[in-house]
Amino acid sequence: MTQLPKPEEALIDAVRRAARQEQFLEVVSADEAKRRFGRHLDLSPRGTQSIALSNALGRVLAADVLAPLDVPPFDRSGVDGFALRASDTTGASDATPLRLRLNREVIACGHAPLIEVSPVTATAIATGGVVPRGADAVIMIEHTELLDDSETPSVEIRRSVAPGQFIAYAGSDIARGETLLRKGTLLGSREIGMLAACGIATIDVVRKPKVAVLSTGDELVQPGEDLGPARIYDSNGAIIAAAVTEAGGEPEAYGAFPDDETLLGDAMRKALADADMLILSGGTSKGAGDLSHRIVSTLGQPGILVHGVALKPGKPLCLAVADGKPVVVLPGFPTSAIFTFHAFVAPVIRALAGLPPENPKTLTVRVPTRVPSELGRKEFALVALVEGSDGMIAFPSPKGSGSVTTFSQADGFIEIDALASALDANTTTEVTLIGAAARAPDVVIMGSHDVALDVVVGALAERGFTARTIAVGSLGGAVAAQRGECDIAPVHLVDPQSGAYNTHLVQDGLSLVKGWQRSQGFLYRAGDPRFEGKSADQAIAAALADHYCLMVNRNAGSGTRILIDQKLKGARPPGYANQPKSHNAVAAAIAQARADWGFAIEPVARMYGLSFLPVAPEEYDFLIVDSRKDRPAVRAFLQALQDDKVRQRIRALGMRPAND
Ligand code: AMP
Ligand code: MG
Repeated sequence: MTQLPKPEEALIDAVRRAARQEQFLEVVSADEAKRRFGRHLDLSPRGTQSIALSNALGRVLAADVLAPLDVPPFDRSGVDGFALRASDTTGASDATPLRLRLNREVIACGHAPLIEVSPVTATAIATGGVVPRGADAVIMIEHTELLDDSETPSVEIRRSVAPGQFIAYAGSDIARGETLLRKGTLLGSREIGMLAACGIATIDVVRKPKVAVLSTGDELVQPGEDLGPARIYDSNGAIIAAAVTEAGGEPEAYGAFPDDETLLGDAMRKALADADMLILSGGTSKGAGDLSHRIVSTLGQPGILVHGVALKPGKPLCLAVADGKPVVVLPGFPTSAIFTFHAFVAPVIRALAGLPPENPKTLTVRVPTRVPSELGRKEFALVALVEGSDGMIAFPSPKGSGSVTTFSQADGFIEIDALASALDANTTTEVTLIGAAARAPDVVIMGSHDVALDVVVGALAERGFTARTIAVGSLGGAVAAQRGECDIAPVHLVDPQSGAYNTHLVQDGLSLVKGWQRSQGFLYRAGDPRFEGKSADQAIAAALADHYCLMVNRNAGSGTRILIDQKLKGARPPGYANQPKSHNAVAAAIAQARADWGFAIEPVARMYGLSFLPVAPEEYDFLIVDSRKDRPAVRAFLQALQDDKVRQRIRALGMRPAND
């Protein structure tokens, strides 16, 4: 047998290893994974430290705090007025004022009183002053009249007061010996205020668990550095480090390491020696770069407890304990990584940080669309919440677990049982909220996305309205508007019969508001001799005549695709099956020479430095749900469309606002 050349040998070896790995991956349920991990974990905090109250914000109390004194420490006046005996005021009114002799003392804050209030006398007292011996009430100055004309100064009382009036008794705010704050309390400004009121200057808090965060992958570049070809930015490192902080830990960000066993192994060992916990991301799925778990298995006892969990997103999760320290390898896919972080890792960090478990908040929602699911894996679908006419509606995110934004923009997730192959449309189910409790946006915009739409949404934000935009395509937006699941649906669909834009989508209860025109056209790399100097139709003819010329198409149902098919008149040039879902993807493919031509809108062509041959102006308009027209945010949206500054910004993007 001849020897394979080196690189191919390595490649084939990697593929074999990947195939073998499928077998040793013992996939367990999410509950079983948590049990196994929990059995080997010591979840108690890793010590306490004493810190100054001024540094205590965001820290966790290590022990209960008992109030060392009463607050207020003495009986205190709550108003400016006169301390007196309530029984001396019986019957007093504006018509029948009573006169009390004034003691020769004014009780200011911070000065102990010297004179006892004896019957039929009163002492002037300031808010916060110590109530003197003998007095049992304070009358407000507004209900008195000072009489200092006579030889013995006196005060006229115009109200009768009850005993105890306007006195804050010692310990009425905080009583000495009471449990002021409990262990595990996260210290915010209010708690710090209470501690200060008790005179506490230093406080025992839980030492934050130190969590080392490493990313793995040859493709990773740190934010701020230049992105070379075939590279992506290391987003997991940043989001996980921040999420560690949110969970009460102290992240130690190590950056990204290439898929190199020696380099990565050294980095992991060093990081773990210095930390209470180690979190990696990437290198867990079956692939050539799958090293992390091999290294983890050498870090300490008992080693890997779980490698493979029957859940989606997140199957390739790896959980281990190395000589008492948790070690976790999160999947590389960003949404999988942060989802499994919150499910399996954040609770551990919270416990080590001394924080109580977080009780997830849930909400009953309706899911309007069918959500397909893989049999045998418990599946979590991240959703955006929208207020419908009959309660909350949850829209599953259309982007997959490779997306960075799916998790970041979701309000929560729904669960699909491992034994179900789908969640039927219109199922009522529970959504578990993530992040801050969901606040319904002021306006929901569902339909086709456009760069200039961001300008209008930006104008709304400047006016204090929050908008949620969900990109579901023109047709999806029209359907959502009919069902009343959104307020506004941006659409750009040509009626194949009449050639008119969007008017055929208007139904009872909807009206059409004109947006702007955008120019659709033929995109190619500047200087391509096949297309230079030609019209769009000539360029298409040239493309069709050249067998090596590769196109990039668009997805069925998009307005652009309708235009492409019209122009191709049944031709199927090479690349036709490549059907990405956005203008940007088309432009990126051409700019990176993965394709030679395609159709997109002019501003996107410009953004990617591509040449553009106009084909047709396209009308991008808004379907407005009539019953929601009077909502302030919808009105603000319509006003923004007419706003001169907004229209100027839309023009600057290469669009033509309606009625220009
Ligand atoms: P892996 O688990 O290494 O096979 O990675 C799965 C996918 O996640 C690949 O597309 C990686 O490029 C991507 N990925 C891995 N690590 C990161 C990271 N730190 N930030 C963003 N994407 C990542
Ligand atoms: Mg990788």
